[in-house]
Amino acid sequence: MPACAAQAYEEIITWTKDPLCVLRSPTTSLNECEWDLARSIAKKLIQIRETILGGGAGLAAPQIGSNRSIFIFTPDRTTEGLKVAINPVFEPIDAQLIDGEEACFSIPLRCTKIKRWKTIKAKYQDLQGNIVEEILDDFSSKVFQHEIDHLKGKLTLDHETARVLTFSDPEAFIEYMKHVHLEDSKSYRARGLKK
Ligand SMILES: [Zn+2]
Repeated sequence: MPACAAQAYEEIITWTKDPLCVLRSPTTSLNECEWDLARSIAKKLIQIRETILGGGAGLAAPQIGSNRSIFIFTPDRTTEGLKVAINPVFEPIDAQLIDGEEACFSIPLRCTKIKRWKTIKAKYQDLQGNIVEEILDDFSSKVFQHEIDHLKGKLTLDHETARVLTFSDPEAFIEYMKHVHLEDSKSYRARGLKK
């Protein structure tokens, strides 16, 4: 079964069960004296992705109850490709948009059609404190923008261009998401990344 939000998980805050409104509050950046904290949040995000969710393209601190600016993401859904982004920002390279479909572990049984920038220049700090700059496009760009939205307190449902598909049957949702994942994989396969 592909890792997808076919159910709510106790460890993940969802939009319908968020008493402290952490999902809809902006996060604060981490300063250089807080790298131990950054490491512990990253460790928890990675551990939950691996042991509870069984994968996933990204996970942001607010989804596990932290209001700090950090998330994990992978450009090709693999664990080997996983990166930690601290204090991330981005800017679009040009005006080109892509139509994507996105699920979110904080929004079970929903898939949102949404417009995103096709190509972005991403900038963030890694766990060593180095500044990383990279050009992301298609799937990886979409994931990065999705996770940045989490740090701004914005969910896919809140997006101006959102069209939301709601599923009542987890099996139907899983089947639908298999096709979404297949479509996503075309962009990173084309670039020669793994899987
Ligand atoms: Zn999400």
